[in-house]
Amino acid sequence: MNNQNHNAVPLNATCPACGLLCDDVTLSLTPELSLQNGCTKGIHFFEDAFNTSASASPLLAGKSTNLETAINAAAEILANSKQALFAGLGTEVQGMRNIMSLAKKTNATLDHIHSESTVSNTRTMQNSGWLTTTLAEVKNRADVILAIGTDITSTHPRFFEKLAWNTDSLFDKPSPELIFLGAPEASAKENAAPDGKEPTIIPAKITQLPEVINALNSLLNGKKINVETVAGIPTNTLISLIEKLRTAKYAVIVWSASALKIPHAELTIQSIVQLISKLNENSRAAGLPLNSGDGDSSVNNVSTWLSGYPTRSRFNNGIPVYDTYHFATAKQLASCDALLWISTFNPYPAPNTQAPVIVIGHPDTKFERMPDVFIPVGIPGVDHNGQMFRMDSSITLPLKKLRDTNLPGLSEVIGKIEAKLSNRMIDGTAA
Ligand code: SF4
Repeated sequence: MNNQNHNAVPLNATCPACGLLCDDVTLSLTPELSLQNGCTKGIHFFEDAFNTSASASPLLAGKSTNLETAINAAAEILANSKQALFAGLGTEVQGMRNIMSLAKKTNATLDHIHSESTVSNTRTMQNSGWLTTTLAEVKNRADVILAIGTDITSTHPRFFEKLAWNTDSLFDKPSPELIFLGAPEASAKENAAPDGKEPTIIPAKITQLPEVINALNSLLNGKKINVETVAGIPTNTLISLIEKLRTAKYAVIVWSASALKIPHAELTIQSIVQLISKLNENSRAAGLPLNSGDGDSSVNNVSTWLSGYPTRSRFNNGIPVYDTYHFATAKQLASCDALLWISTFNPYPAPNTQAPVIVIGHPDTKFERMPDVFIPVGIPGVDHNGQMFRMDSSITLPLKKLRDTNLPGLSEVIGKIEAKLSNRMIDGTAA
């Protein structure tokens, strides 16, 4: 482990490895890295982060260079572009603020790496509205949690530990009953409560979920289903599930848009949302969409409050435009004349394009094709402070700097590129 540059004492940290943003973790670096209150996913994140090179240097066409030269080269590419694509966008709040400012100046298109999933949720919200809840409400009020298409813990490992099996809810309520519907990885044993109570598991394929959720809506609306099974699930099982939801004091339905790998996933999410609306006519129920990671909640919140739209947006002479279809990275790669790829939490490689490529990201970023410019930057919550939205978008939490490095932060680099572009405009040298 590259551990010369940090304090060898336990460090209080906020873990950015999933949308729960656990801020109760304590990191010990000796004799080996361990996390108190953390989980395996969190340990892997911090292990990888502390193993990255703290002194990676910028590259220009694959050759080592200094930061100033790399920033000049990046500014030159963007100055010569007319339809740049800023993609990846794995960053926190301040990083995204700077990216938005640079995008406005360069008329760039913005798309987050996990937009394909986020867009399914956004379309549902735009079409029909939705009733969602916060993690605090789940912890304090939920008596039934129905997870659809996800076991939750594969992506958000401490979810049940913190929100279902906790003993510190505001009200004296029993632990919620857990039900997994069509969650391929869900295991009764692994998700058993500390008292040994196992969850109910209703198997179904992800592709069958639209049919199953439509059947649940029919039953909730008092319709009779004249078949013995729906997608292989006995109709009586679905009737008991509806009964549990109807009689719950506060049912929470959790889904993961990234797990719903089916065409028009937004229609299935809309069907889940209809179920929640109907339940609220006589009891209380709320939805909880899981986020996909890499700062997606932070990036889309910042984009929305600064431009009115989440990502898959573009600036056109300073005016934001939004299009979830045309502004997708996969579509834009064919027509953009510059790609700025940003991924600070994970070393994800930039996608292939014929356009000039600038990569600003994780020091260990690997390249399928050497970019024109690579600027390694610090990892938020390890190399520098930051702010992140938790997955329920109800609060932001501070990320803490845990080690000293020579790596600049993304905000600093983006700010310097923008300043170079401003100077070019003042000098009249802009393309
Ligand atoms: S549950 Fe998520 S935020 Fe909490 S320690 Fe694990 S990976 Fe980190």
